[in-house]
This record gives sequence, C-alpha cells and structure tokens, in this order.
Amino acid sequence: MNTRLARLRAVLSDRQLDAIWVGSAANRRYLSGFSGSAGWLYVSASAASLLTDGRYTGQAGQQAPDFTVVRVTRGSEVAAFNEAMRPGQRVALEATHITLDQWQRWFQPMEVEWVFTTGLVEELRAQKDASELAAIEAAAQLTDQTMAYAYTVARPGMSEQELAWMLEVYLREHGAQGVAFEFIVASGPNSALPHARPTDRLLHAGEPITIDMGARLPNGYHSDLTRTFCLGEPADERFRTVYATVLAAQHAGLAALRPGLAGRAADEAARQVIENAGYGEYFSHSLGHGVGLEVHEMPALAPSSQDTLATNAVVTVEPGIYLPGWGGVRIEDLVVITPDGCRLLSHAAELPVIAA
Ligand code: ZN
Ligand code: ZN
Repeated sequence: MNTRLARLRAVLSDRQLDAIWVGSAANRRYLSGFSGSAGWLYVSASAASLLTDGRYTGQAGQQAPDFTVVRVTRGSEVAAFNEAMRPGQRVALEATHITLDQWQRWFQPMEVEWVFTTGLVEELRAQKDASELAAIEAAAQLTDQTMAYAYTVARPGMSEQELAWMLEVYLREHGAQGVAFEFIVASGPNSALPHARPTDRLLHAGEPITIDMGARLPNGYHSDLTRTFCLGEPADERFRTVYATVLAAQHAGLAALRPGLAGRAADEAARQVIENAGYGEYFSHSLGHGVGLEVHEMPALAPSSQDTLATNAVVTVEPGIYLPGWGGVRIEDLVVITPDGCRLLSHAAELPVIAA
C-alpha cells in the first residue's frame, strides 16, 4: 500500500496539488485496502486519512493500516472535511465520483482552490503490481474452468437463463465472491446483440451461442472471458467464415500489443482484419478494456482512446461480428502487457463446434 501512496504523492507533486479527496470505491480500496461501501480518502504530502461512518470504522482500522481513520457522523461532514485541510490549498476532487449534492453541501463551502480531476488514480491502477496480477490470473483461471464446465453441460433444449444460472452457481461454488457482471448467454439471433441478457429462449443445435462471463474474487479483482460455439455442426456455413474472421482479428490484436502502443492502434490492428473481410460495420464496439478492481477500467482499446499501454496493464482483446437477425461471434481473452508483447491470462479452449 505504501508504494501506491508514494506513487499518488508523486503525481500530486507533479501537478502542483496539495492534496486529493478520493470518493471512488475502487480507488479507495486500491490506495487504502478498505473495502467498505462508503468513505472518503484524504491524501496530502504528509497526511493520509480515511473518513467513514460508524458502520465501518472498525473494519477501516483493520484494513487500512496506513490511514488515520476518522469517524464522521451525519451532519458533521463539513467540519470533518475542513479539519483535514488548510485554507488556500490546491486540492483535487474526483470529478466523476462526486454527486452534485455532495459538492454543494460538503465541498463547495470550503476555502480552498478546487481542481476537478478525472482518471488520476485510475491511471495508477492501470499498471498492476505482482499481487494484483496474481489475483487477476486466479480470477481468469476460475473463469476458464467455468467455461470448460459450460462446454460439458450446455445442451439443446436448455434455456439461456438456465445455463447462465448453472455457470453462476459453479463459479460461486469454486471461490468467486460474486459475478463480475450479469452473465451473457445469447443463442441464435440473440447472439447478434453484443450485450444480450439471458432469456427463456431454448438453445438449439447448430446455432451460435455466446457466453460472456467473469468472476469477482473476495480480494475485489475481476476476470472477463467470452467464447462463441455451436452445439453440433453449424446450420449455416457462414458461421465458420465469421468465426475464422473474428479469431484472425483477435490474433492480429494480440500480436500488436506491446508497451507504448496507443489504445486506438490496438483497436485498429484487429478492426482492420474485420474490415478487410467485409464485416467492418458489424464490429459495433471497441476492442477491449482494462480489468482489475473494476471490470471496465483504464486503458481503453478503442478508436477514440487517448490511453497508451504500459507494461503490466491488464486488458481484454474481444473483437466480434454481429449480423442482425442471424447471430454473432465474439472471442475475448484477458492478457497482461509484458516488456516484449503480451501474455495470455485466459486459457479456455476455443472450440467453434461442440458435440451436441
Ligand atoms: Zn466480457
Ligand atoms: Zn470485456
């Protein structure tokens, strides 16, 4: 934790900030270790305080040894927040993690110079340390195992919801604290919707089935994995072409990844393959995203991304092709950026066809 605080303090100093208030739950956990649902961190060159309410002061004391825990009662926020600061300081506030109400009641009245920041702590989080890499790798391994289970239990006649629930139960029984997001099990034409929710539609032999799922481990780290397959021989030969194109695009994306690469260049490397095959308009989302304490975090692999890949960033590579009314294919793996490229953290088999 001390290394993380030291890195944050270096950024504050670079940006001529005296301090920062951190309101994001993931940023709070990253910097302090505190996993409770409410609280604010105040970090300056010399101070590190965690302000939270009576439900959490005991837990905060145990989880955040580098922080001074301050108990805040309802109505005493302004006094408690003011106590931490000195008039005239230049203080950062996380613009994307504060409500207008909090700003007006607690922060605006104070006599400091406010600087609204976005992505300041998130940028630190984009480069994982060894303990984080181990945590994400464990989450990825559990998800691989759950996909292997999906391959053995998926049957024609089972509904999307039924399969999604079986996978969720399996994941929870094997160590997950929860799901990283509501699982996607999308069959036939439903698989043409990149973010379809499981329905009571029954799985049919010969149709594409897309499963997108991830684990959240008790330490707060996530995984994210997608596979598409047919139960039995594809009813439509287009499936093989679409599948091969998505796989080639994914390989092109993976081959391009290295430290210093722009997020938009990574996206372009994979997108080019899909465009060359004539499916460009059917790849309707970005190539990938960072994964860690949040399932979608920096850096973004997207046409509009301003991010650059750093060594030890963890990202997904997930191209897809979605043909309305017919179905879709997406293949998603999790990788870590290494000094000379990337290393796969997902190892689930890629099987376009599974015996029905
Ligand atoms: Zn996913
Ligand atoms: Zn994803």
